[in-house]
Amino acid sequence: MRTQVAVVGAGPAGLLLAVLLEQAGIDVLLLERRSPEYVLSRIRAGVLEQGTVDLLDAAGVGRRMHAEGVPHEGIEISFNGDPLRIDLFKRSGGKRVLVYGQTELTRDLMDFRTGRPSVYEAEDVAVEGFDTAHPRVTYRRDGTTHVVECDFVAGCDGFHGVSRACLPAGAARTFERVYPFGWLGVMADVPPVRDELIYAHHERGFALCSMRSRTRVRCYIQCPLDTDVAAWSDARFWDELRLRLAPEVAAAMQTGPSIEKSVAPLRSFVAEPLRFGRLFLAGDAAHIVPPTGAKGLNLAASDVRYLAEGLIGHFCEGSEAGLDHYSARALARIWKAERFSWWMTELLHAFPEGGAFDRRLQRAEFDYLRGSEAAQTVLAENYVGLPV
Ligand SMILES: Cc1cc2nc3c(=O)[nH]c(=O)nc-3n(C[C@H](O)[C@H](O)[C@H](O)COP(=O)(O)OP(=O)(O)OC[C@H]3O[C@@H](n4cnc5c(N)ncnc54)[C@H](O)[C@@H]3O)c2cc1C
Repeated sequence: MRTQVAVVGAGPAGLLLAVLLEQAGIDVLLLERRSPEYVLSRIRAGVLEQGTVDLLDAAGVGRRMHAEGVPHEGIEISFNGDPLRIDLFKRSGGKRVLVYGQTELTRDLMDFRTGRPSVYEAEDVAVEGFDTAHPRVTYRRDGTTHVVECDFVAGCDGFHGVSRACLPAGAARTFERVYPFGWLGVMADVPPVRDELIYAHHERGFALCSMRSRTRVRCYIQCPLDTDVAAWSDARFWDELRLRLAPEVAAAMQTGPSIEKSVAPLRSFVAEPLRFGRLFLAGDAAHIVPPTGAKGLNLAASDVRYLAEGLIGHFCEGSEAGLDHYSARALARIWKAERFSWWMTELLHAFPEGGAFDRRLQRAEFDYLRGSEAAQTVLAENYVGLPV
């Protein structure tokens, strides 16, 4: 079989890229290792930057997102119970974020592509010949091996995918920081305790009161990396979360049975460059941020925007400039998001090896943030999303 662009991975990056290219009349084949049901069962990000919302609108997939998503104009940071509201709207010159679950966004993109060429449950996907003019992607399905000839391959297959793994040793330079803790997350069908997200620093560890809608919360507590989810009953989770919040917030919080509970490790990671001949990396295949800054999904979207522009330039306008500049353009934005996510993580978590000096610095950082409009502006403009 032949296509113009083989997209490996049907997470948000792969799906959105496929939609943007197909709208420009470019042939795409989307290959995904898992089933559609499995992809839709993954509970992940939930905060969309204005630029991500605009891109989804431009792609024509924003109708349900606007009907069901909840716009937020601020966040609260609680430091050992001491609250500070950051007015995102005011400090960023009129921008908001939209709270809308990654699962819902993925469903919208999948529904939009109904009938378009996709192969789910593709086994043993392999990318070959990307350093030649004739790359190929092979996969197995139902016991048969298939070969896809294409012009370009987009590696949108996440951190553990094959696209980066197929590179020869030394082709990519990687940069990584692994944090000595994770997040234990619970989703429950109860109303959020506040209209806005609460990011809490506490000596017992970080906590986040987030939401997916006006009736569904997603809450997290910092936990050791070897945390056994089975050891955390719902009651134990809610009790621990309350201990990390201001007393009036803890008292007002409604709780209920969890509908999902999982542990996620925290990592910062970047691979450079993002182009290897006719193979391009985008989204989590190329970089990971700790979720503290709500940047992972948004970075995937901005990569895809740049890559789609490059591929549309190649196929529709005969221009190579967008593809030639893709890696440098995307990496410039990626590193800024890495910096912000690292900064939020450092401010808000209890570091097991951190001593009294580090804790005083965190307090000083919070006090500076509280007293400085400039510092709040820096936080706000990063949180709502730097220019694309
Ligand atoms: C547990 C968890 C919680 C998170 N929470 C947040 C959050 O709160 N806020 C935030 O901003 N970000 C969060 N993130 C990050 C965010 O979800 C990701 O940045 C986002 O999913 C990136 O999209 P993607 O399409 O690049 O990668 P993915 O969503 O990982 O999609 C990659 C796709 O490729 C497929 N694939 C993998 N290998 C192969 C293969 N060999 N062949 C074919 N297909 C393959 C996968 O099955 C998957 O469907 C979280 C991530 C995780 C893992």
